[in-house]
Amino acid sequence: MSAAAPIIVVGGGIAGLATALAAAPAPVLLLTRAPGAKGVASAMAQGGIAAAIAEGDTPAAHAHDTCVAGSHHNDARIVELLTSSAGEAVQWLQAIGVAFDRHPDGRLQFGREGGHDRPRIVHAGGDATGARVMEALVAAARAAAHITRQAGVEVDGLLMRDGQVCGVCMTDAEGRRSVVHGRAVVLATGGIGGLFAQTSNPADADGSGLALAQAVGVRLRDLEFVQFHPTALALPGVHSLPLVTEALRGAGATLRDSLGRALMADVHPLGDLAPRDTVARRVFQACQDGGALLDASVVGADFPKRFPTVFHACMDHGIDPRVQPIPVTPAAHFHMGGIDVDADGRSSIAGLYAVGEVACNGVHGANRLASNSLLEGVVFGRRLGAILRGLPPPYDQPDANAAQIVLHPESLAEGDLIALRAVLMQTMGPLRCQAGLKEGRRACAAFNGWQATLAGALLDAATARRESLGAHFRVQE
Ligand SMILES: Cc1cc2nc3c(=O)[nH]c(=O)nc-3n(C[C@H](O)[C@H](O)[C@H](O)COP(=O)(O)OP(=O)(O)OC[C@H]3O[C@@H](n4cnc5c(N)ncnc54)[C@H](O)[C@@H]3O)c2cc1C
Repeated sequence: MSAAAPIIVVGGGIAGLATALAAAPAPVLLLTRAPGAKGVASAMAQGGIAAAIAEGDTPAAHAHDTCVAGSHHNDARIVELLTSSAGEAVQWLQAIGVAFDRHPDGRLQFGREGGHDRPRIVHAGGDATGARVMEALVAAARAAAHITRQAGVEVDGLLMRDGQVCGVCMTDAEGRRSVVHGRAVVLATGGIGGLFAQTSNPADADGSGLALAQAVGVRLRDLEFVQFHPTALALPGVHSLPLVTEALRGAGATLRDSLGRALMADVHPLGDLAPRDTVARRVFQACQDGGALLDASVVGADFPKRFPTVFHACMDHGIDPRVQPIPVTPAAHFHMGGIDVDADGRSSIAGLYAVGEVACNGVHGANRLASNSLLEGVVFGRRLGAILRGLPPPYDQPDANAAQIVLHPESLAEGDLIALRAVLMQTMGPLRCQAGLKEGRRACAAFNGWQATLAGALLDAATARRESLGAHFRVQE
């Protein structure tokens, strides 16, 4: 392998791009399914980025909130690394062109979200933070001489030599397969929401990177912890759903069942403003029993101005939220588990690294604190890029004969995939029970494809954890 053998980064979201940029001047080959920010969850982030940089705030306070949200299943050392690096991460994003929202006097604006003990969230363009951050990152990557971009490819295999990962196998849009050797392979392929019947994620967040890692036998961790957003817009037959922001309930909107009865009244002292998981479970139950609705008519004529994103999503589907209740459903939103990595993104197999939502370094514990994941992508991506920058190529010469290709098994046919997603939502959704998990495992075995193999591992992890913890809620039988 020549000294110029690239670092291969799979995935062009916030984590992949932060890694690729920080690896300069080492050559990077960036492989993505689509050009720019298309199909990328990072571009959809609406909340913002958590950073303890307001006057009086401290990384320790942010770390405390992160661990409370994560039910203290977090790795405290990694959490400290995240929260103490947040100021520098925000500065770096500003330096590459992200204009965070400011007060007229120039001070940064800080928003507050559930689980944070004070206003701590920076935004760019209001609820368009992810899109603005991705614009800046994509532009920086396009301008970076050390990054070669190849879009329109599906990475569907890993190259192994002497027990190490030494490259990838990919297929382009014409179905041509090729192999590329690298000095390191970084999986930054995002989450698994696309494996569930209802998700807030793009369909591209299908867990394919996680399944590749699974295929080579790398250690995975905390797979049972999946966060569900309580209120996505319920659209029959639609997989990837727009979110109906929790801020609507903050403005007085109420959840109701299909008969118009208040859903949250006797469930939690905070009623409609109960923690996300509690609401998700109740809404899930109501959906099983006939449907869940959010009555947001209290917002009235101001709706388009105050909640433009939700307003347009509803109107696009023939629902006028000023006068009609909004049908809602929980949706798979974020995966806390993933490829087991250390603080430097190293997996259990040499040559293979992971960062962002596909990775699990323990930072989120059993549940993610709002607005911590964009931050995670920047902090751990930049850290990993800087480490890989100094990495020597592992071999003098690539030897195609010495490398073994470990491919994804077949992908599921569309009909089977839809059926598998329904199984996962039903058995590994916001409410889980032993019999359901067992049934889910049995149903998975009937499918033949990498998605089913991965789903089996998720179900096994959920079955093994018999007590509720964080986002993993077990109904006791
Ligand atoms: C609607 C929504 C709102 C959110 N709001 C917030 C928020 O306000 N704040 C916050 O911190 N987090 C938020 N999140 C979570 C956050 O956006 C994600 O966790 C984070 O962006 C994940 O970044 P990533 O780089 O790991 O993955 P992604 O951004 O998902 O990027 C993954 C990349 O990998 C590529 N890829 C996948 N598989 C392959 C393959 N086999 N071959 C080639 N390429 C592949 C994809 O095409 C994509 O380019 C939100 C998520 C959603 C869905």
